[in-house]
Amino acid sequence: MIKLNTNENPYPPSPAVLETLARAADASVRLYPDPEARALRARAAEVYGVPMDHLLAGNGSDELLALVLRATVDPGDRVAFPVPTYSLYETLVAVQGGESVQVPFADDFRLPPALGRARARVTFLCNPNSPSGTLVPLAEVEALAREVAGVLVVDEAYVDFASGHALGLVARLPNVLVLRTLSKSFSLAGLRVGLAVGHPELLAGLRTVKDSYNVSRLSQAAAVAALGDLPAMQANVARVRATRARLTAGLERLAFRVLPSEANFVLARRPGVDQGPVARALAARDILVRHFARPGLEDALRITVGTDDEVDALLAALGVQGKANALRSCKASRKVRTRIRMVPRRSPGAPWPRFCLTVRDGRR
Ligand code: PMP
Repeated sequence: MIKLNTNENPYPPSPAVLETLARAADASVRLYPDPEARALRARAAEVYGVPMDHLLAGNGSDELLALVLRATVDPGDRVAFPVPTYSLYETLVAVQGGESVQVPFADDFRLPPALGRARARVTFLCNPNSPSGTLVPLAEVEALAREVAGVLVVDEAYVDFASGHALGLVARLPNVLVLRTLSKSFSLAGLRVGLAVGHPELLAGLRTVKDSYNVSRLSQAAAVAALGDLPAMQANVARVRATRARLTAGLERLAFRVLPSEANFVLARRPGVDQGPVARALAARDILVRHFARPGLEDALRITVGTDDEVDALLAALGVQGKANALRSCKASRKVRTRIRMVPRRSPGAPWPRFCLTVRDGRR
C-alpha cells in the first residue's frame, strides 16, 4: 500500500523518539500524565523562542481547534475561514452551533479581502493551506490579524515545510493564536501532539474546556525527545521538499497543473476533468491519494509527498492511467481510425516518461 492521502511523513521520527518510547513504556503508565505537560512546554518554549506560559499542549492540533471553538463560540456566533480549506473547521463550527462564514479563495489562493471584514468571533487561516499547499505572506497575515474583530487562529500544521511562519505575531497581537503539530514534520501523527502558541489570557480560556489529562505520558515523553532532535526533523523536511519538486515536475509532464506548494503535499489539477475515476483507479493499484467530491475541487487530486520510490510508483501508475484514457477516447471516436503506439522519447536522458504516446490518423 502506498499511502499518499493523509499527509503523513514518509520517514520515521528521530531515533531518540523511539528510544524514549521504549524507556517510557514501563510500570509508570499506571500514573496519569502531567495535565500541564510542563516538560513538553518547557522544551517547546526553547525551540520556538516563546515564554512557557504562551504554550498549551493538545491531543493533536485537532483537539486544540475544538477547544478554541468550545471556549469562544456560542450558538449563532460567526466563524470565518477562506475556502477550500481544512474541512474540520466547518464540522467543528457546526458541532458548536456556530455559523460558518466561508469566503472563497480566488483561483490563485491569495487571501480574499472580504475575510477580514466578516465580523467573526473566530477566523481560521490554514497557512500553508490545505488542500492547495499555498502560503499567505506574513505581512498579509499580520494585516488580517489587525483587521479581524475577534481571534485569528493561524493553523500552521504544515509550516515546517514552508518558507515563513507567524509565531512572531503572538508577542505583538493578543488576538493571534498559532497552532502547531508534531504529526507532520516530526513524524508523530500516531502519538497525537499539538501545540497552541498564544497570549496567556487566550490560553486560560482554552484550559477551562480542556480535559485534564489530554496528552498521554508516552506522547509527552516522545514529543520532548522529538523537539530535542531538530536536525533529524530538518533532514526529513529537506528530503520531503526535494521529492516535492520531483513530484511537481513529474505531474506537470503528465499534463497536470500544480500549484506551488509550501507543504508536504501538492494539489494537482486537470481543469474541467473529474479526477474521481483517477483516484479510484489508483486505489485499485493500492495507491491512495485524496480526491474531494466538492464543487470546485472535482478536477483535482491532493497528493502527499512520499519517498522517492513511492512518488515514482505513483507517477508510473498515473502515466499508465493516462494512456488507458487516451485509448478509450480514441476507440470512442468513430470518425477517424487511430493507431496508438509507444515510441521512445526524444530526450532519453529524462527519467520519466521514457516512452510517449503517439496517436496516428488511420487514413494516413
Ligand atoms: N490542521 C490541518 C490543516 C491539518 O491538515 C491537520 C491534519 N489533518 C491538522 C490540523 C490536525 O493535525 P493533528 O491533529 O494530527 O495535530
